[in-house]
Amino acid sequence: MASTTGTGAERLDALRASFSGSVLQPGDDGYDEARRVHNGLIDRRPALIARCQNTADVADAIRFARDAGLEISVRGGGHNVAGRAVADGALMIDLSAMKGIHVDPAARTVRAQGGVVWSELNRETAAHGLAVTGGVISSTGIAGLTLGGGLGWLMAKYGLASDNVLAVELVTADGRILDVTEASDPDLFWALRGGGGNFGIAASFLYRLHPLQMVVGGLIAHPNDAARDMLRFYRDAVASASDDLTVFAAIGHAPDGSGMKIAAMVVFHTGAPEDAERELAPFKEWGSPLMVEVGPMPYPVMNTMLDANYPAGSSNYWLSSFTSGLPDELIDVALERFASVPSPLTAILLERFHGAVCRIGVTDTAVPHREEGWNLLIPSVWLDPAETDANIAWTRETHAAFAPHLSTRRWLNYLGDDQGDDAVRAAYGPNYDRLVEVKRRYDPDNVFHHNHNIAP
Ligand SMILES: Cc1cc2nc3c(=O)[nH]c(=O)nc-3n(C[C@H](O)[C@H](O)[C@H](O)COP(=O)(O)OP(=O)(O)OC[C@H]3O[C@@H](n4cnc5c(N)ncnc54)[C@H](O)[C@@H]3O)c2cc1C
Repeated sequence: MASTTGTGAERLDALRASFSGSVLQPGDDGYDEARRVHNGLIDRRPALIARCQNTADVADAIRFARDAGLEISVRGGGHNVAGRAVADGALMIDLSAMKGIHVDPAARTVRAQGGVVWSELNRETAAHGLAVTGGVISSTGIAGLTLGGGLGWLMAKYGLASDNVLAVELVTADGRILDVTEASDPDLFWALRGGGGNFGIAASFLYRLHPLQMVVGGLIAHPNDAARDMLRFYRDAVASASDDLTVFAAIGHAPDGSGMKIAAMVVFHTGAPEDAERELAPFKEWGSPLMVEVGPMPYPVMNTMLDANYPAGSSNYWLSSFTSGLPDELIDVALERFASVPSPLTAILLERFHGAVCRIGVTDTAVPHREEGWNLLIPSVWLDPAETDANIAWTRETHAAFAPHLSTRRWLNYLGDDQGDDAVRAAYGPNYDRLVEVKRRYDPDNVFHHNHNIAP
């Protein structure tokens, strides 16, 4: 454990002396690289970056920050759209070098450290023919995604990423290292599954795994002028989908970079090939598609299918809300608004919630979003900084145009930086008050506040 007495410089020397990783200051080699996150709009300068190698580094970094009076931000995969992993003048506790993954095939579990991203976890688990629900894009961090709930292709079959957590190795605000399970501390375990980074730093997670080898997945694209009919068909067709089938729909742009607008269904099936064939047939056969690229593939490949739409360093501004239905009026708003979309990387996306994710009670974990329906996401992505104002304005106006048709419920992981306390409360929903109680017990001084904060 690093010494916590002496002057600021002495304390920093003491931290460095015992630290397994590295501690970077402005001007150091690697500092600018380390402060960069996925969202290119975020350009913040921490006072220090503690690049941890292990759990002891995390604990020492927390103690150091508290003694030095520095605020703390926490970086897992760096994908947070709000950029909360990095804060001006703070100590950034960076877990991105903590890449340990250990699969226990007999127990069907995996222990993974807080710097792992989904492509890395999927590769290890797939080597054993196993998988757990992860994010739709493979470069997202397991830590932030899981703590915020974690929706993905497998949620209809196996629930959210957070629904599959069995234990969290958590470093608390006072530097204690806890192995948090349902048995050890039910309230904290409950809060960690959806309460975001409010309760401590997750050094590692233990997940339950499920047998999964090949899936059937892919893209069905239609011309833009079929979008209205395709979305109506989609709405009705997914109503009877089994837990094996998840279909997201979007109006977006052709994946070939031509900028051509299209309407698309992204399909994913975990069942036997003949079941997949039968359940996918109506989707493949509807209308006159421009492209039907659907077939068997390993799950980790499916998990990279949409990665190219979200280039690292691109500018991101996202808004989303849930809806239990897709009335014709909502579909009309989507088409009207998409006609003026400013960026060829932007889409309007419908993420389907049904099956296992909806069979868990609203208050069983900290994630309250258990209603069958859709998360309507407007992930605006653009490359030219000169176009930032136009893209943000379009996204806000589009979300506002949808508002009469949407619920007030919000997906925590997609919240931006500017959406205020109401959006945060709408994301935690009826679980907010219990989360405040847990926060008071484990982080009464709000040491962990660079997140979608639950004030103690
Ligand atoms: C391209 C893209 C695709 C996405 N796809 C999905 C998706 O399919 N499903 C979904 O649910 N979300 C998705 N998201 C949202 C994403 O889950 C959140 O932004 C999440 O915060 C990212 O986690 P991270 O570790 O990569 O982020 P970071 O930016 O590193 O961390 C975000 C916040 O999480 C907390 N945090 C991170 N690591 C730790 C830790 N080890 N201990 C404690 N707190 C920690 C901190 O509060 C931190 O500020 C996506 C985002 C992007 C940009």
